[in-house]
Amino acid sequence: MSDPVFDRSRPVLVTGATGYLAGWVVGRLLELGFDVHAAVRDPQDEAKRAHLDAMAAESPGSLKYFRANLLEPGSYDDAAAGCSIVFHTASPFTSKVSDPQRDLVDPAVKGTRTVLDSATRAGTVERVVLTSSCAAIYGYNADIQGMPDKRLTEDVWNHSSSLKDGAYAYSKTLAEKAAWEMAKAQNRWRLVTINPSFILGPGTRPDTRSESFSVVRQIGKGAMRFGAPPMEIGTVDVRDVAEAHIRAAFIAEAKGRHIVSAETKTLLQMGEDLRARFGDDYPFPKSEMPKWLVWIIGPMVNANLTRKTVSRNMNKPFRADNSKSKRRLGLEYRPTASSIQDMFAQMVEAGRV
Ligand code: NAP
Repeated sequence: MSDPVFDRSRPVLVTGATGYLAGWVVGRLLELGFDVHAAVRDPQDEAKRAHLDAMAAESPGSLKYFRANLLEPGSYDDAAAGCSIVFHTASPFTSKVSDPQRDLVDPAVKGTRTVLDSATRAGTVERVVLTSSCAAIYGYNADIQGMPDKRLTEDVWNHSSSLKDGAYAYSKTLAEKAAWEMAKAQNRWRLVTINPSFILGPGTRPDTRSESFSVVRQIGKGAMRFGAPPMEIGTVDVRDVAEAHIRAAFIAEAKGRHIVSAETKTLLQMGEDLRARFGDDYPFPKSEMPKWLVWIIGPMVNANLTRKTVSRNMNKPFRADNSKSKRRLGLEYRPTASSIQDMFAQMVEAGRV
């Protein structure tokens, strides 16, 4: 693996710059002295960009905003013009969905095509770094039990999610596949994907809306006070995911997909990490609920907790092979206990728990 080489002669584009992960990517690029083209839905929304403006004011790099929407063809042309790298992070990550095709799949898939078309038209883009997800590799923990060595690798694709079951994972799978198809159909830019597990850690602004915050807020508000569902997930700090994007962009030989995941946690362990810092001030889970009980009552209290989700996810180990990210990108992962603690502290301070 060679060291990253930072060529600042051209600007770089970050889509969805107001997002949770994107805030850290933009911050790091500004720190490195890049001219960052920030594509956002509403450049006039000062509340959503104040943190980016503050970072730019203290950094050697510069920031320029562009209005763009994933659902408007040609929308990213101006933002991509003259850029060497496109970081495509924008994609809806939310469980508040009434029409999964309209709210998740269309912006993820059509949006990816729109952004990559703009990258091709720009004529100057050499590399596209796409924020994909481990969700493009597996749908349910049960899938992992059938994989070689019972762990996720970059060779595997999610075959089990659909519009009806796991629409977010489905949207990320289709979007990444569309990106690889487009990458193969041209020879101007190279595609590198980052496939993070569940991202934890503080935001660059206090009122971050990502689903990551919603999940941690639910744990803090007592959604699991009678017992956490017995489920394992992969976790990773947001700053490590941002660093993975930077290395994927600027290490000359970086290519292909990269699982970016630090460790496996149960939902109960996440609650225990929070209790270790915040004590019993909040109703964090203290035990696990048996799977059979989650199977019975889960769907009554949470529409996303279907019986299929419970059967296929709970009491089934999550394992992911992150060795490529260490070998090819030189990533070193921080433990995620402090990530979730710092994130929760930020929510408490902002009065959001
Ligand atoms: P986030 O804060 O909600 O960021 C999503 C971004 O997408 C926001 O900036 C949002 O813009 C933008 N966006 C959504 N719909 C759009 C549209 N129609 N047009 C233009 N922009 C649109 O969530 P995040 O956690 O940072 O997610 C960033 C990326 O990481 C996503 O691709 C997500 O799938 C991926 N990812 C996240 C996790 C995780 O655990 N958080 C794990 C794996 C992968 P607004 O600010 O205007 O709403």
